[in-house]
Amino acid sequence: MNVYDSDLVAGILSGSGYVKASSMEDAEIVLLNTCAIREKAVERVINKFSQYAYMKKAGRMKIAGILGCIPQHSPERLKKELPFLDILAGPDSYHKLPEMIEASLKDKKLHENTELTHTQNYEEVLPFPENSFSSFVTIMRGCNNFCSYCVVPYVRGRERSRSTGSVLKEVRSLVQRNVTEITLLGQNVNSYYSNGTDLAALLNIISGVEGLKRLRFATSHPKDISDELIHIMANNPKICNHLHLPFQSGSDAILKRMNRGYTREEYLSKIERIRKAVPQIAVTTDVIVGFPGESCEDFEYTLDLMRKAQFDNAFMFIYSERNGTEAKKNFVDDIPRKVKTDRLKKVSELQKKLSLEQMSHETGRIREVLTESVSKKRKDELMGRTEQNRTVIFKKIEGTKPGDYINVRIDRAEGISLFGEQVDKGVGGK
Ligand code: SF4
Repeated sequence: MNVYDSDLVAGILSGSGYVKASSMEDAEIVLLNTCAIREKAVERVINKFSQYAYMKKAGRMKIAGILGCIPQHSPERLKKELPFLDILAGPDSYHKLPEMIEASLKDKKLHENTELTHTQNYEEVLPFPENSFSSFVTIMRGCNNFCSYCVVPYVRGRERSRSTGSVLKEVRSLVQRNVTEITLLGQNVNSYYSNGTDLAALLNIISGVEGLKRLRFATSHPKDISDELIHIMANNPKICNHLHLPFQSGSDAILKRMNRGYTREEYLSKIERIRKAVPQIAVTTDVIVGFPGESCEDFEYTLDLMRKAQFDNAFMFIYSERNGTEAKKNFVDDIPRKVKTDRLKKVSELQKKLSLEQMSHETGRIREVLTESVSKKRKDELMGRTEQNRTVIFKKIEGTKPGDYINVRIDRAEGISLFGEQVDKGVGGK
């Protein structure tokens, strides 16, 4: 979502006559877009920006700004630790950046805007992404779920959806620029609703855009996956067979304390229904270990759910206490660091095994791959993704280039990657 938001900021600034610098050293204005979801991210932003202080002192960098969720969540900390900052702008203030920059260039003072409108959707702004065959389109912002550990509802505000017309306009403009794969984004993407159009209906409308080959969406909330959505995933060939469905914990007691709104049985039964309707689907997930009060038994339930759900891959995190959240207010962060790291190690090891099992089933199959880039290790190999979002590294046929859709025979799986050989000549995405 922040990649998309950075492109949105680039769109707003290019509309005011600014151009992208070719490197940090060349830039007169440096804006860092940030995420506040974990404490580690905040520390990294402060460390990274501290390293740029010399450029600001030398006068080459005229404006130094921090955007996004950290200014929204911790503006005082930023001001204290990075006193040379000129701009602090929260997620609802990007359209004000041109005037904030102008004002700061004139008066050399800090300009700050962290007003949360709960309505800002940037309907009229066309983002300015890097050239790519794959792109994001944000369709809704904010979240009303208030999971007890999460800052998103406080830093991004309440849920609101973009109009179907503005989403469609952006998709069409991307497809005209040779984008063939689009991922629709929302903090809680299943809640999309605009004038009678829900996510399932929106997917159907967008899939009708000529030239678009693959359509994805993220991130889904387990309680909001509807039968209609499952039906459309099963029947619309442009919607990719991949679902990112965070489960966070396998213990009902912890899910309740997290305010996730479902039980482990409900989560597993959703997975079962999805797999039945879409047998080729790959499911990925997020999990948190070491949430306050997580007992050994609770943790065993998490491992058990992972084994049952057979995820392709997982983003695994140690619980990070965040100011302003219900978890911080109501629970003591009581799991010792060592126990947390041991649990993280255990879920990582289990997921490694599960990923390899899922990937090994691919051996011998022929999969359509969207070619993305030359492989990092060998020039005669390319890297791309299947519609299940699995990475494939393959020996190419001469002439195949990024953006081509080609068929690859999968020979083997290693870690979370597949390896194979191209079996037909590539066709351009459009
Ligand atoms: S659904 Fe996601 S974004 Fe919303 S509160 Fe929960 S974890 Fe945060």
